[in-house]
Amino acid sequence: MKGIIYLIFFSISWATFAQDFTLPELRFKYDAYEQGIDAKTMEIHHSKHHRGYVRKLNKAVSESKLQGKSLEDLLMYASDRTSAVRNNSGGHYNHTLFWEILTPTTDKSAPGVPSKSLQNAISKNFGSIDVLRKQLSVAAAKRFGSGWAWLVVTPNKELVVSSSPNQDNPIMDVSDVRGLPILGIDVWEHAYYLRYQNKRGDYLSAIWSLLDWGVVSEKYAAALNSPLLTKIEKENWPEKNTFHKVLAQIFNSAENGDLKPLRNMSGALYAQAILLQDSDVPKPILKPEVSLSLVRLEKKCGVLNRLVGKNAREKSLMKAVVAVHDIFQEVQGLCHD
Ligand code: MN
Repeated sequence: MKGIIYLIFFSISWATFAQDFTLPELRFKYDAYEQGIDAKTMEIHHSKHHRGYVRKLNKAVSESKLQGKSLEDLLMYASDRTSAVRNNSGGHYNHTLFWEILTPTTDKSAPGVPSKSLQNAISKNFGSIDVLRKQLSVAAAKRFGSGWAWLVVTPNKELVVSSSPNQDNPIMDVSDVRGLPILGIDVWEHAYYLRYQNKRGDYLSAIWSLLDWGVVSEKYAAALNSPLLTKIEKENWPEKNTFHKVLAQIFNSAENGDLKPLRNMSGALYAQAILLQDSDVPKPILKPEVSLSLVRLEKKCGVLNRLVGKNAREKSLMKAVVAVHDIFQEVQGLCHD
């Protein structure tokens, strides 16, 4: 009996709390990184800043009714999220990565150089590790205000350096450079101000000396075979995203009885459908059904545009815009399969 009660209690609490994100422990004590980053900075950064992102993320997720979504999923569709979800999901993900790749300089078990395969990729994409270091430093130094510098594995398995503002990162659909980050450098002032004040360059040298290349190499190997990278590749289709934006504006207003955006933008939608039909379909979704749907989508957008030109009745316009929307949903479905 007692066992059953425990079981019920455990199930209830698991169901209630399972989806909450939690603050990860650091790999080492706050004062272990002292050679590069002082203990006070580590402590405030982890126990105040990162904890704050986790707390606000759980709040924002529950307010947006997104419980149960993975952290990666929250990031992937950042453009659809509230700014609280976007900022705090990024804050949680980015800091978790940051703690993982840092190791005390006294940690004798941490390799000081990348694995063979990461070394090869660095040589291929940058020429040498010194060039990579320079590019990362420039990206970090040039990031105006708060943000991050990244080493990213792109969907075509290349390495690139990028940077992003605030708590954005390359997994997000709002990012210029898409891919999986395997190394991230926090360039918010809270990461270095106590010891380095305005000397961001000195802080960057310190971070370089704390990098755990073993962990970065593991992340590189994992990224190459990551389903998330394939998912990003599927979603990395600017012409489709632009079409989606224009259609959403038209369709949402039309559904609420306002046909003005439809009348004003049917030409732009048609133009975007033509561009979409001509665009390069991302490799993982390159299949005949997709191309056929895109041809139909273009035709229907043409029909819609002509109806607007002829000043057609509201009912015919609605019918035509719903048809466009349906075909686009088909395309979306084919992308997510
Ligand atoms: Mn930070």
